[in-house]
Amino acid sequence: MTMSVRSDIESRAACGVLTIDLGALVANYQLLCRQTAPAKAAAVVKADAYGLGVAHVAPALYEAGCRDFFVAHFIEAIRLKPYLPSDARILVLNGLMPGSEGDCADLGVVPVLNSLEQVANWSATARARNATLPAALQADTGMSRLGLEPRELDTLLAEPDRLAGIDLDIIMSHLACGDEPAHAANARQLARMGAVRSRFPDARLSFANSAGIFLGEDYRGELARPGIALYGGAPLGEGQNPMRPVVRLEVGVVQTRTVPAGAEIGYGASFVASSEMRLATIAAGYADGLPRHLSNTGAAYYGDVRLPIVGRVSMDSIILDVTSLQPGALKLGDMVELIGPHQTLETIAADAGTISYEILTSLGRRYERRYLSPAAR
Ligand SMILES: *Cc1c(COP(=O)(O)O)cnc(C)c1O
Repeated sequence: MTMSVRSDIESRAACGVLTIDLGALVANYQLLCRQTAPAKAAAVVKADAYGLGVAHVAPALYEAGCRDFFVAHFIEAIRLKPYLPSDARILVLNGLMPGSEGDCADLGVVPVLNSLEQVANWSATARARNATLPAALQADTGMSRLGLEPRELDTLLAEPDRLAGIDLDIIMSHLACGDEPAHAANARQLARMGAVRSRFPDARLSFANSAGIFLGEDYRGELARPGIALYGGAPLGEGQNPMRPVVRLEVGVVQTRTVPAGAEIGYGASFVASSEMRLATIAAGYADGLPRHLSNTGAAYYGDVRLPIVGRVSMDSIILDVTSLQPGALKLGDMVELIGPHQTLETIAADAGTISYEILTSLGRRYERRYLSPAAR
C-alpha cells in the first residue's frame, strides 16, 4: 500500500517524487538487530530521521520492536514525543541547555549528560523534585566533541553526590573513525571505553553507531545506536553495502530543447556545447537538496541511460545532457532518477563531494513524499 501524505492536488503539482520505503527501513533495523545481538539496537532519528520524516520513521521502528530513540536536540524530542507510545525512551544526544531541565523531566525525556555542569543541573532538578531522573552519561573517548573527559569522570567517581537523584541508565561514547575499520583510533577509543565501562558497571554500555556494529563484537556494548544504516546508507566506507535502499528520488522534466554547437548552458555559462546537443531541464535544484557541487559533474538516469548534468545546478532546476537518448524520448512531465536502482545515495554523494548523511538530511520539502508501508512487503 502506498500512502501519500499530500492531497492529490499537491501530488500532481509536485516537482518530483521522494519515495521512502518503510519496509526496507524495518528490514534494515532487523538486520542491525541480528548483527548486534545479544545487544539491543536503538534508532538514531535526529534531524527528522535523517530527513526522511520522523513522524513516519519512528512509529515504524517502534512497531518493529525499537524502544530507544536518540535525537540530537531537546526540541526534536518534544516534537517526536506525540508519535511514540509512552514506553519508548527518547534520549537527547546533545543534552540540555540550562533552563530546559524541568521541561525535560516533565516530558519523561532522557538527557545525555555531556559535562559536569549538565550533571549538576540534572541532579539539582531531580533533588528539587525529590525524584530520581534517568540519564545517559557520555564519555569523550577521543573525538573531542561531546562528553566528560577522564579527569571529569574521576571527579564524578570521587564525589558520587554529584550524581544524587540521577539513575544512570546508559554510559556511552561515540566513534570518530568507525567507518574506517583499520583506523588506529578505533582500538584507542575501544580501550578507553573499556576503562570507563568498568567504572560504571551497572549502566548499559552504548558505543556502536552504524559503522561500529560492523566492527565486531568488542564494539557492541548493550545498546547500539545506528542511524545512517537504517536509512540505507553504507555503514562502512568501502565494500558491499549490506543495507537495503530506503530512498528513491525521481524528478520531472519541465522542458527539452536542442542547442547548436557554441550554446552556453546555465548560470555563468560554465558549459559550452562543443557540438549540437539535446538538453532536458528538470524541476529540482539546490533548494531541493541537490548540491550545487553537482554542477558539470553529477548525473540523472532515464532507464539505464546516464544523463550527465551540464552547467551549474540552479536553485530550482538542473540541465541534463540527453543527447544519448533518441530524439523525443524525454518529454514534459517524464521522470528521471536521481537516487534509486541506477544511482545510489553513495554515488550521488560522492559526485557532490559529500557524504550520504548530508544528501539525506538536505532532501527538499517540495517533493511529493510517498511512504511505502512495511505491510506492503
Ligand atoms: C549521529 C550519531 C549516531 C548515529 O551515527 P550513524 O553513523 O548515522 O550510525 C550515533 N551516536 C551519536 C552520538 C551520533 O551523534
